[in-house]
Amino acid sequence: MIKDDLNSHIDDILNALGDDLDIEIKREDIEKELSRFIEYGVPIEQAKQTLIKKYGGQGVFSSSEQSSERKLISDLQPNERSVNLLCRVISVNPKEITVKGESRKIFYGILGDESGTISFTAWSSELDIERGDVVEISNAYTREWQGSVQLNLGDRVNIKKTDKEKLPESAFEPKTVKIMDLRSGIGAVDVTARILELNERETEVDGETKKVFSGILADETGKAQFTSWHDFNFKEEDVLQITGGYVKSWKGIPQLTFDQKATVKKIDKNKIPKKDLQINKMPLFMLVEKRGALDVEIEGTIIEIRPGSGVILRCPECNRALTNNECSIHGKVKGKQDLRIKLVIDDGTGAITSSINKELAEKLLNKKFEEYKKMDEVTMIDDFNKKLFAHRINLQGNALGDEFGTSLIAKDAKLVDFDIKEEADKLFHELEELV
Ligand SMILES: [Zn+2]
Repeated sequence: MIKDDLNSHIDDILNALGDDLDIEIKREDIEKELSRFIEYGVPIEQAKQTLIKKYGGQGVFSSSEQSSERKLISDLQPNERSVNLLCRVISVNPKEITVKGESRKIFYGILGDESGTISFTAWSSELDIERGDVVEISNAYTREWQGSVQLNLGDRVNIKKTDKEKLPESAFEPKTVKIMDLRSGIGAVDVTARILELNERETEVDGETKKVFSGILADETGKAQFTSWHDFNFKEEDVLQITGGYVKSWKGIPQLTFDQKATVKKIDKNKIPKKDLQINKMPLFMLVEKRGALDVEIEGTIIEIRPGSGVILRCPECNRALTNNECSIHGKVKGKQDLRIKLVIDDGTGAITSSINKELAEKLLNKKFEEYKKMDEVTMIDDFNKKLFAHRINLQGNALGDEFGTSLIAKDAKLVDFDIKEEADKLFHELEELV
């Protein structure tokens, strides 16, 4: 939109607000918000209407029956109440759950608008909406679930089917994105990636057995999990352009989901050479911001060895760590001994925790589990501190985010001895070359 047009729309909004204003509204704020709506393809009159209502005006532009402000999906935060949306049903599925010993039917799926998508759960046994419907939803609410915002349709919700043209298909053009930028709520995406791992399983959908394909895919920016609900007949190591998939995330790890409505094209394998798919090394602030990632490498200084490190007892059934000889699922059990170290690692840009298993701990500490078993607690923690505290460590593994922060489950760990004299010499030589 050209600047003059935008200005005249802003004038309209300010005029409509007129003397209703209790607060002073900055022209730049309105411009910023209006531009955002336009960028997402919201029709201009509707965008103006929304802003006028937001700033307390009466909405002189239309006879819209919507009684309160429409929200864009990408703006939703956890724990919002009275959420009103205009959206398209991207998927909807029934699910049986057990509540207090009784079986109940609920629905779950994905809703989308011009700004993005969101997972929803409808807590009712009847839900009269189908994929492709455009619906006005009022009085929904949001929660955080596994690190992403989720929409809940509860008792008070009102769902009304409306004209499909209010949100035409064209509002859902897939965006081309790199794996690193995949996040839930981004909307339909177009991704080019190499299939690194492929598994096939069967599942029941509406009483029919269906094949589901899942695994890991990657481009030069990172790795993600995927699920395909349709047999596109691809194999491991194929390089694919997948258009029209959607992204969900679990603890910060993106998961690309697609089905027969998506287009999957095999392309030249050299487009994403295997050698470009190294493990991604990431500064910690970035990992914390993304919350989680599949198969990453990080490096930082160990600033704390956390309580819960050392020889612990695990449940023989489920492997959970026991507290006071009790498993949170299986109650009192005879635990089996294990060695674990929990670290806090800081690289100057951010901090995460990491859990180190027995094999890696033995390697890092250069001492066997059998020897630690014989030690008393104080001697053992002292040994950990001497060998690990304030040392630099390099870790690889999957990082998972939740409400407590980001934690890396280490698949490999090594202490990085960095020799101060050598570093200084190197720096000196580099400087010399510059002169
Ligand atoms: Zn257990």
